[in-house]
Amino acid sequence: MNRIYVTGLGPGAGDQMTIKARKVLEHCPVIIGYTVYIDLIREMFPDKVFLSTPMRQEAERCRMAFREAEKGRDVAMVCSGDSGIYGMAGLIFEIGRDYPDIEIEVVPGITAASGGAAVLGAPLMHDFAVISLSDLLTPWETIEKRLDAAAQADFVICLYNPSSRKRADYLQKACDIILQHRDPGNVCGIVRNIGRDGESCQIMTLEKLRDTGTDMFTTVFIGNSKTFEWNGKMITPRGYKEEKGNE
Ligand code: SAH
Repeated sequence: MNRIYVTGLGPGAGDQMTIKARKVLEHCPVIIGYTVYIDLIREMFPDKVFLSTPMRQEAERCRMAFREAEKGRDVAMVCSGDSGIYGMAGLIFEIGRDYPDIEIEVVPGITAASGGAAVLGAPLMHDFAVISLSDLLTPWETIEKRLDAAAQADFVICLYNPSSRKRADYLQKACDIILQHRDPGNVCGIVRNIGRDGESCQIMTLEKLRDTGTDMFTTVFIGNSKTFEWNGKMITPRGYKEEKGNE
């Protein structure tokens, strides 16, 4: 039986790729993915057949993977970060119901939340919620409800897809919702191009984040009420209880 490996490349596709993901890419003669991710790995695997479709043609990209597997070749369907977190794993299983003879294996990767957290310091040390601000597949009212609930419950909040050209003011709108429950001085961080050329990060207050421009290559971290900045790092303490000394 032929198999599709839905493979997370990690945030940058360099040394943050797992050994398993690398082995899968070495094994599969065909690699399919969105052009930006294919470009990250093309040089590493020059002998492969690379196939792609433009952004927003995800279903067609999945069907392409199944058609290739039906020809008798193992296929790697690649995504950035983790393939099961806003990645292609779900859609591959949904469409896979039409192709019962093809096996599916999910190969995880380092997601932007953990890759970016490492750049900032230790912002995710306590309960956190991951919310995507993209309303392509989710109604904006649902996104607002989740932002409100997470802010109210004092979760650390990690935002994926914080904005794009068409959604330039979404981060601002999200911050306005969060500011209803949080202090304007709440510590936040943004990380751009995690694990890629030009990686950069900034730590700032929630009030400042509201007026900061981001793009689709940025992941945003909003600390909880205990998160603090120290020595250029963003740190969320492990607990809410005061640390006990050595009594
Ligand atoms: N499957 C991916 C997420 C895809 S959604 C993962 O697990 O990481 C796309 C969003 O993820 C981007 O808009 C951005 O917010 C975030 N992201 C993915 N890769 C990133 C990177 N290298 N640097 C910064 N943000 C990234």
